[in-house]
Amino acid sequence: MNNTDMNRWSLQPGHCDSRRALLKSATGIATLCAIGAPLLSVPELSDAAALTKDMRDKLTPDQIIEMMKQGNERFRTGKMSSHDYLAQKRATVSGQYPAAVILSCIDSRAPAEIILDAGIGDTFNARIAGNIANDDLLGSLEFACALAGAKVVLVMGHTACGAIKGAIDSAQLGNLTGLLNKIKPAVNATHYEGERTSKNGEFVDEVAKTNVRPTIGTIRERSDVLAGLEKDGKIKIVGSMYRLVGGRVDFFT
Ligand SMILES: [Zn+2]
Repeated sequence: MNNTDMNRWSLQPGHCDSRRALLKSATGIATLCAIGAPLLSVPELSDAAALTKDMRDKLTPDQIIEMMKQGNERFRTGKMSSHDYLAQKRATVSGQYPAAVILSCIDSRAPAEIILDAGIGDTFNARIAGNIANDDLLGSLEFACALAGAKVVLVMGHTACGAIKGAIDSAQLGNLTGLLNKIKPAVNATHYEGERTSKNGEFVDEVAKTNVRPTIGTIRERSDVLAGLEKDGKIKIVGSMYRLVGGRVDFFT
């Protein structure tokens, strides 16, 4: 295992000193620092360029959320891991054990894996304009959690979202019209005293924030599978907002 392999999506309980590459969290899950020589004292990580089943299964939903927060912190501060994508690719050829599934917008400026500093095999990704949920997306989330073992559903909106602007403007274009109609209830549900137009970035971002909640509501109401897993404590369904300015992901937890 080389340094790059060690620099994968990982849980770091605190500040890493450059001489200590491998730490242990309070729960016993091996954790890695992005810098420094690896100390290969944890057998299950000895050849892990990507999440193994054993590693993923030991993580709790809260730990996975913390991993995503720390990954975003690395991204936001310019300290991203230097991913060895070829090693990650090789490590995931025979199977995948992603820890989370992310439902986010198609916006080219909001690529979930990059802004969470995740690698190949770490997360499922469902992307649709305006991060709404429909039957096919619910089916995808159900596959990710109930069959493939992901433990967190992260719904991620973002600032300056074009789909949100389109819904505010009642834009009409082919099949996009129907998609935007699914966002309109969030426009009406947004409490905002100022100018309620797509030209007002503050209002657009408030609607985007509001829009995350009905998506989560749809997941819980229309997926007995996911609602059951959440009720049993096997998964967590969490909302979040990615800010283009500054690069921070705010988790609604
Ligand atoms: Zn968007």
